[in-house]
Amino acid sequence: MPRTSPKTQPRSADPAIRFDDLTLGYDGHAAIHHLSGELGRGTLTALVGPNGSGKSTLIKGIIGLLKPLGGSFTVSMDQTVAYLPQHSELDRSFPARVKDLVALGLWQRCGLLGRHQPEDRKKVSGALTAVGLDGFGDRPLDTLSGGQLQRARFARVLVQDANLILLDEPFNAVDEKTIRDLIALIQGWRAEGRTVVTVVHDLDLVRSSFPEALLLARRPIAWGPTAETVTPKNMQRARLFQEAWDDDAPWCAPAIRVRPGRAA
Ligand code: ADP
Ligand code: MG
Repeated sequence: MPRTSPKTQPRSADPAIRFDDLTLGYDGHAAIHHLSGELGRGTLTALVGPNGSGKSTLIKGIIGLLKPLGGSFTVSMDQTVAYLPQHSELDRSFPARVKDLVALGLWQRCGLLGRHQPEDRKKVSGALTAVGLDGFGDRPLDTLSGGQLQRARFARVLVQDANLILLDEPFNAVDEKTIRDLIALIQGWRAEGRTVVTVVHDLDLVRSSFPEALLLARRPIAWGPTAETVTPKNMQRARLFQEAWDDDAPWCAPAIRVRPGRAA
């Protein structure tokens, strides 16, 4: 069955995450609603949609920063989550060295003030090598280029060794070579059986490197294999839904005046 709609997805026995008519938002106003479907284990999914379509909101919901306004979702018990927030200058102004930023990824195991064991130091230096920052461990963060800082943030994700990885716009303000290297890392995670969700704006990149896509416009427009999801028709529908959204509507009011087609 083609997976063009979350509602038509076959239910697998044990997905990484299952969404049931989920509504997420702020101060009683929905930012995304009616999300149902499953995120399969080991899938590599691009989260796509216009600005303000709810991509970051969905990721914040999954990691528990936002409580559902309606519906629910279930993250499978064995999932450990690593999250890369949208690029922030905060990381650069953090008065620390590259290896300190990366070691933050170990805090769940070591505690924030915990002492790092030789094994942890090995993990940090291994991660720096993997992201192409060999020898950068002692560099102050404010001396890094945008691409190098993003590599360091990926190293922080790497040391977490999570099986569910959520990346919010990791390719923004990053040079081409770094994007290629980060894509290779992401594909390596997928080859290891990890589940990866990445917010991506560049549709060519989505088509070339992400097998699955979830297209949002405050609600799911399409979800499934990228070739069937990121189509000109669906992108146009996403734009229409996004433009028709009433930001002041209470949650789940029928604020969308565009007649929904089959896939939404
Ligand atoms: P995207 O990541 O797709 O660009 P977001 O998920 O950040 O979109 O935002 C979706 C909607 O929720 C937008 O209308 C945005 O203004 C609103 N929003 C995001 N964060 C907050 C917040 N902290 N408080 C209130 N509204 C917010
Ligand atoms: Mg966002």
